Amino acid sequence: MIHREREQKFVREMIVMAYTKPVTTTEMFKKAYNGGYAIGAFNVNNMEIVQGITEAAKELEAPLILQVSKGARAYANHTYLVKLVEAAIIETGLPITLHLDHGDSFELCKSCIDGGFTSVMIDKSGLPFDENIKITKQVVEYAHDHGVVVEAELGTLSGIEDEVNVSAEAASYTRPEEVEEFVQRTGCDSLAIAIGTSHGAYKFTAAQCTRNEKGELVPPPLRFDVLEEVSKRLPGFPIVLHGSSSVPQQFVKMVNENGGKMPDAVGIPEEQLRKAAKLAVCKINIDSDLRLAMTGTIRKYFAEHPDHFDPRQYLTPARAAIKELVKHKITDVLGCDHKAF
Ligand SMILES: [Zn+2]
Repeated sequence: MIHREREQKFVREMIVMAYTKPVTTTEMFKKAYNGGYAIGAFNVNNMEIVQGITEAAKELEAPLILQVSKGARAYANHTYLVKLVEAAIIETGLPITLHLDHGDSFELCKSCIDGGFTSVMIDKSGLPFDENIKITKQVVEYAHDHGVVVEAELGTLSGIEDEVNVSAEAASYTRPEEVEEFVQRTGCDSLAIAIGTSHGAYKFTAAQCTRNEKGELVPPPLRFDVLEEVSKRLPGFPIVLHGSSSVPQQFVKMVNENGGKMPDAVGIPEEQLRKAAKLAVCKINIDSDLRLAMTGTIRKYFAEHPDHFDPRQYLTPARAAIKELVKHKITDVLGCDHKAF
């Protein structure tokens, strides 16, 4: 028994040694689809965020997608982000995908493919169906020639996130009758759909919600009927959910109690995301929750230590808050703990 355990540990260490570069999502999604869980796709902008996320994943042996938006790339610079992610892979040994979030042009996708990303999203969901297909197909051809996978989008999410800003009126649910033709004609590897999630920390207006007994806003439920219809038409095909932060109220409170002002920020209930992860959803995007954890923690730290000025002093608890949040997401929302190897 002891011998076998030691042997398994050795094999695991050998596998861990194999990951020194980012991987694609192909194997990850296959396992996630069949295993009834989802991979967390967390947005990264700086070292502390990368470290907080990847330390959590390492402790829980979770596969991971680290994603970079156009805005993050403009903020931190392409090379810095690629090298930070590569450093995280070397430190953790985990299978990690480096993904472009919301690529808005062939040129941007090409630049990321040429520059070390293993996955890109081309988001032309705002264009008519045929034009979305045309540009997505162009990205897919270039990406596949270079061993990179592509996420595309049908349907439009409302909300604000970096460069993406869609009003509630312009948002629309994915039409299931379009998905087979879209996937067939584009050759994309995964598909982001709109079933009622939304970008940012203010996903819904008070008028769209009800209030619970604590006075907190409760958003309208996700359209699981649309998800089920899509997955029926695309059996085995990985589906992606954007805008899936849950806006934890303890961090909103922390922000508001320490000089911030975020009234009525509201997100997607975690139990609905857990349900989606058990179905065809293989990738769940989380960004706002990381921002809230970091900002709430830093605000609290500043309020409690007005004399401190060393960034390491307030970034240490901020990084720890991100780590705790991601551990909770991996275990309780995504269900991908101990699925890395
Ligand atoms: Zn998104």
